[in-house]
Amino acid sequence: MTAELERIDSLREQLQEHNYRYYVLDEPSVPDSEYDHLMHELRALELQHPRSVTPDSPTQRVGAAPSGTFTSIKHKVPMLSLSDVFADSEVEDFDRRVRKLLDVEQLVYAAEPKMDGLAVSLTYIDGRLFQAATRGDGNRGENVTANVRTIEAIPLRLRGSAYPSELEVRGEVYMPREGFNAYNLNARKNGEKTLANPRNGAAGSLRQLDPAITAKRPLAFFAYAAITREGLPDTQFEVLQRLRDWGFPVNPEVQRVTGFKGCTAFYHYLEALRAGLNYDIDGVVYKVDSFDAQDELGFVARAPRWAVARKFPAEEEITRLIAIDVQVGRTGAITPVARLEAVSVAGVTVTNATLHNEDEIRRKDVRPGDWVVIRRAGDVIPEVVRSLPERRHKDLPEWQFPQSCPVCNSAIEKIEGESIARCSGGLFCQAQRKQSIRHFATRKALDIEGLGDKLVDMLVDVGLLDSVADLFKLKLEDIASLERMGEKSATNLLQQLEKSKDVSLARLLYALGIREVGEVTAASLAEVFGSLDALAAAGIDDLISVQDVGPIVAEHVYQFFREQHNQTVINALLAAGVTPRAVEVISRDGPLEGQVWVLTGTLAFPRSKAKKWLESLGAKVTGSVSKKTTVLLAGESAGSKLTKAEKLGVAVMDGEAFAQLLKSHGIE
Ligand code: NAD
Repeated sequence: MTAELERIDSLREQLQEHNYRYYVLDEPSVPDSEYDHLMHELRALELQHPRSVTPDSPTQRVGAAPSGTFTSIKHKVPMLSLSDVFADSEVEDFDRRVRKLLDVEQLVYAAEPKMDGLAVSLTYIDGRLFQAATRGDGNRGENVTANVRTIEAIPLRLRGSAYPSELEVRGEVYMPREGFNAYNLNARKNGEKTLANPRNGAAGSLRQLDPAITAKRPLAFFAYAAITREGLPDTQFEVLQRLRDWGFPVNPEVQRVTGFKGCTAFYHYLEALRAGLNYDIDGVVYKVDSFDAQDELGFVARAPRWAVARKFPAEEEITRLIAIDVQVGRTGAITPVARLEAVSVAGVTVTNATLHNEDEIRRKDVRPGDWVVIRRAGDVIPEVVRSLPERRHKDLPEWQFPQSCPVCNSAIEKIEGESIARCSGGLFCQAQRKQSIRHFATRKALDIEGLGDKLVDMLVDVGLLDSVADLFKLKLEDIASLERMGEKSATNLLQQLEKSKDVSLARLLYALGIREVGEVTAASLAEVFGSLDALAAAGIDDLISVQDVGPIVAEHVYQFFREQHNQTVINALLAAGVTPRAVEVISRDGPLEGQVWVLTGTLAFPRSKAKKWLESLGAKVTGSVSKKTTVLLAGESAGSKLTKAEKLGVAVMDGEAFAQLLKSHGIE
């Protein structure tokens, strides 16, 4: 009994400290999963000891008091938290509970993604942004109006005129993943502090004293509630549509669903979408749609009774760092890799994570043996966010960066001012050789089916491959004699190699693995120069004039063609019969110039063809629908892209109309 009460005290103390670090300093020391764990333990203990519950227990309070850095604003209606659940069965319990309280058979919910950013309240007077506040402790927040004004997604003036003279809207300020990754990449290059995750990035950026700093951070916003009732519809879902009309961004994934089944279907739909989204979500929120019903249900201590958050598996977890190894990349870049005790992050078991570079390891003070926070979000490879030095039981020695390449023993060079260290072995280094040959065979390069990583490694190890040009000298008996290769697979590989000789110039350029030349840059270079000879003869100025090519890329391309070894490889490739196809020069002033198209559904012709036609007319074709999309070409059984386009008001064209359009431009 006393042990439990002591535990309650200890949990409260820990949670208060975590709240302070998270809400005031924007520098949490543990991942949310750990915090949630402690909070659940405290809740369970308080249930067993109801008399121990005090009003200042973290289970009864929201956030933390305003920091004093900003003036404070009292909220007219408190900004609360949400009760959270972690299983479908708990959502079913929630649905049963509210139906019982309301005495209804079935309920309609507004189902919304739970954005992982920070809540703000925005007040508009006569259609103009008057004031913006953070949530703070739920009753009082910080006045962040000057900072919020710098966020482009937040309207300073409302559209139309049918809005109430005073309007309070709430929503989430967040940092899109793209912006977060770009910010960290840049910070890493400049040896500056990186942001731990987009949520901390958003909170830290919004709570800057200098609005000019906030303005530089990539912040965005989704509105999710209106506090004002007069002159607004009486359901949550309709209110969101109305907010959109007034110029607020509203998450396009929001849906109206019926009953527990509708809720779980929405959860699984979003769970599948999660990794591909451009923003972090930590779950979904179900809100009873009718405001009358919401009013009847009311609130408990720190959350509304009419809503619940169903959390996703966390994207950050704690585990033990066993060791740090280094990997040698295609261009010799040495990347430290963390070997971890297996941990499940966002539903996937993680045993390795990147540590980026030596500076990052020092800055984050990560040592073998440490407890570390691992983050795995979207399609990005898992990374070590930070160590937890307070959990170090004994003094751990710092990790020493190797002086020589672990593969070829050549010296490791670190250029002054650059954060990346490189093996100086060039293609003498087997690791670099293997990687460059692997890259040459990948789908976006020469697309040599059957030439997988393992086979490349074997061919290099037995001395059959020194460079990519040697691929075309391989003989049937060489390949067939390798372990687990027979005559049939050898014949297939030779056929694939033969086929790969007919390749577009853009692909060949990409395949050569010139530093910083990705597929887009390779395509631009191919389009402008038209042949390998012309590109090899190009000067730095000619290169810089190409779209996407800056001075650094230009220098890499220029140097690449001046290295004797590369010339030899290129000549050998050409002599072996690799023939870069003359490029079709894309019209720069086609009739669809400046338009962005997205293709979806089943069309009467292959998508790749449609893409080519559109490009030949000057349009750009991208993979996902956004506000920037000009037209969605939707074939039969189009799915979520069509829904999204309709929600965003993007023009939609069917296959027939598209055929007409092509005809009018002479394509049949
Ligand atoms: P919460 O984040 O679970 O729920 C409330 C918040 O959800 C709102 O304030 C709003 O910002 C947000 N939200 C996003 N989308 C929404 C939508 N569509 N509709 C309504 N609200 C939406 O509650 P909380 O009280 O802010 O904090 C708990 C969270 O913060 C937990 O995830 C917890 O792990 C984390 N936390 C972590 C630490 C730490 O040290 N790591 C410390 C404190 C809190």
